Amino acid sequence: MEYILTSKKFTEALKEGKFLGLKCHQCSGYTAPPQKVCSQCGSEDMEIVELSRQGKVRTFTVIHVAAEGYQAPYIVALIELEEGPWVTANIINMDPEAATMDIIGRQGKIDYQDIITDIFSGGERIALTFSLTDST
Ligand SMILES: [Zn+2]
Repeated sequence: MEYILTSKKFTEALKEGKFLGLKCHQCSGYTAPPQKVCSQCGSEDMEIVELSRQGKVRTFTVIHVAAEGYQAPYIVALIELEEGPWVTANIINMDPEAATMDIIGRQGKIDYQDIITDIFSGGERIALTFSLTDST
C-alpha cells in the first residue's frame, strides 16, 4: 500500500500556498491531513484535491509547556474544515491568555508556520496554523 499524498508532498504544496487533502471515490468523503486510507470508509481509492482552508474551531487547549520549537503559551485547536475532516492547528491571532470557550465555533482560515528545531531533531518542520477571520 502506498501513500498517494506523502507528508513531504503535503508540506511542499503548503509552502506553495496549496492546502491538499484527499477525496474518496467510494464515499465522496474528504481526508486531511494525508493518510493511506479514507478516514470515513477506509477505501484507498482517493484522489488529491485542494481544500478551501476554511474551517471552524471545534475545541482547543492552551499549552503552557511548549514542545520543542514552540513558544508557550499557545493555543492548539481542533479545526473542522469546510470539507468535513478535523485537523489540529495552532490559533495564532489570539492571545492564549484571553482564550475562552467563546472561540469554539468561530470561523477562520488554515495556513502554516515553520517550526524551528535544533539540528538533532531532523531539521525542518511545519505546523498548521489557524487565523480567526470572523469578528466577535
Ligand atoms: Zn471513503
